[in-house]
Amino acid sequence: MTLRIAEVFGPTIQGEGALIGEPTLFVRAGGCDYRCSWCDSPHAVDSRFRQDWTPMEPAEVMARLGALSGGQPMMVSLSGGNPAIQDFAPLIAMGRAKGYRFACETQGSVARDWFAALDMLVLSPKPPSSGETTDWAKFDACLAAAGDAPRVMKIVVFDDADLDYARTAAARHPELSLCLQPGNPESDPDTPVSLDALAARLEWLVDRTIGAGWLRPRILPQLHVLIWGNKRGV
Ligand code: SF4
Repeated sequence: MTLRIAEVFGPTIQGEGALIGEPTLFVRAGGCDYRCSWCDSPHAVDSRFRQDWTPMEPAEVMARLGALSGGQPMMVSLSGGNPAIQDFAPLIAMGRAKGYRFACETQGSVARDWFAALDMLVLSPKPPSSGETTDWAKFDACLAAAGDAPRVMKIVVFDDADLDYARTAAARHPELSLCLQPGNPESDPDTPVSLDALAARLEWLVDRTIGAGWLRPRILPQLHVLIWGNKRGV
């Protein structure tokens, strides 16, 4: 039952998606079955960082969350990497017993029974610019596994091909609320981000969606990148 954990940090704000702005603790799982070209968390994906991942029992992670929050129950985001390749059921059960709430962000490649115990499942299928290919049968299995848990979809968009993908994904799943987020091409924590460039990407995405008459998606920036750039653990 030991978990591979890249980081536990917070409280901070959720920087993206449907829970943007929400005070949140983060548990970043180590390991991912994808290798997206623009991944912003390579330290939680690439096996060359494996020696930095800490083996932790669920009770140890829970104790860390309790210490970080001063015992105040709050939202916990399971991210990664892909948290779905590990068993977070015991941690979720422990946390919920203390009043903590859990969201999980995953690309939708591995379905887990514990999705049904979440307060929100954020499915973030990866568009063509990632270099990965979505297996929609597996994505649908993730949705089914979540049962009645709230489920939302978030897609990163770098270019027109990604936008076409987002439209197709949205059409496949009219039941899901949809956030689109402009891609951030820079993941190096030591490289300063250009706020002007990020704003231009955001404006392009608004033009190509709302401006083109597609009124369904919410268009959101990555709030943490606007505030802290690509710095980790904030
Ligand atoms: Fe990185 Fe997420 Fe892609 Fe995994 S699925 S490689 S964590 S962007």
